[in-house]
Amino acid sequence: MKTASRLLAAILASAIFGSATAALAETPAKLLFSAERNPAPGAARSIGFYSNGCLAGGAELPPDGPHWQAMRLSRNRNYGHPDTVAVIERIAGEAARAGVWPGLLVGDVSQPRGGPMASGHASHQVGLDFDVWLQPMPSPRLSAEQRETYPFRSVLKNGTFTVDDRIWNPRYRDLIEIAASQAEVERIFVHPGIKKKLCETAGRDRGWLAKVRPYYGHHEHFHVRLSCRPGSSGCKPQPAIGAGDGCNELDWWFNVALQPPKPGGKPAKPKPPLTLAGMPKACSAVLGAPDVGGSAVAAGGSSSGMQAPSYASAFAPPASSVPIPTPRPFR
Ligand SMILES: [Zn+2]
Repeated sequence: MKTASRLLAAILASAIFGSATAALAETPAKLLFSAERNPAPGAARSIGFYSNGCLAGGAELPPDGPHWQAMRLSRNRNYGHPDTVAVIERIAGEAARAGVWPGLLVGDVSQPRGGPMASGHASHQVGLDFDVWLQPMPSPRLSAEQRETYPFRSVLKNGTFTVDDRIWNPRYRDLIEIAASQAEVERIFVHPGIKKKLCETAGRDRGWLAKVRPYYGHHEHFHVRLSCRPGSSGCKPQPAIGAGDGCNELDWWFNVALQPPKPGGKPAKPKPPLTLAGMPKACSAVLGAPDVGGSAVAAGGSSSGMQAPSYASAFAPPASSVPIPTPRPFR
């Protein structure tokens, strides 16, 4: 019996005093979605919002491609909308042909059926988000085992919000420009220190900068987000951003957002975990759909042959071992 079914059985069995459906609806959805090992069948469809939704018809990003390696394979988060997989492959190929980077280290995309993750991200739920590590693919390539522990590295000077010029070079900018220039890409999140560097070095052609927005964390990786794809009527778009290169936002980031919180200020209340009851209805069907088998829907790639243990994504490694968006510094 697959893990998800076992989990469901346990939840149903425990629902002695209430309706079983209610018990399922109240279970943290991250436990249910992270237990799914394979995509849901059917046409590709992103359902809901980037931070509250799921994915049908997901495609696998092959763990190894001509110009990329997917990282932390045991997490089973190398799935996305087929357009997302295509965009990753395209960016990697363009960067390699342009001599920018020989290959990309691709971080989390989504779980096979999307949904909330047991650790790490609030978004990445509808198969349209992916992370790229801010370091080129090394030579020789990393083994599957090395990819579990390979350390991420900040491009900021230690303890500052300033890009370290001993690490940074124009190829980092070129890579982000290639990513931002893809038609499907709607937004890219980077640390404010990186955005500042891009603003200073973008040169005259600055159109692509508009898509690149500052956010907390994102100094060991950058986060790429596609717009809702055609055919996903249930996909909720994100609010539009203003025109312009966005460099005028930096003052607020450095002078307000990145400043330590005022002493005595109330810390933000943590949100209760998402449950199926709080998610789009269609996500219950996505969760309950039978497997079609990973390879049948894989985007033309080989599998690593490395079988993740069934508990790997439900009990993922501590968040500190992977590059994920980090909350405000100083906290
Ligand atoms: Zn991300």
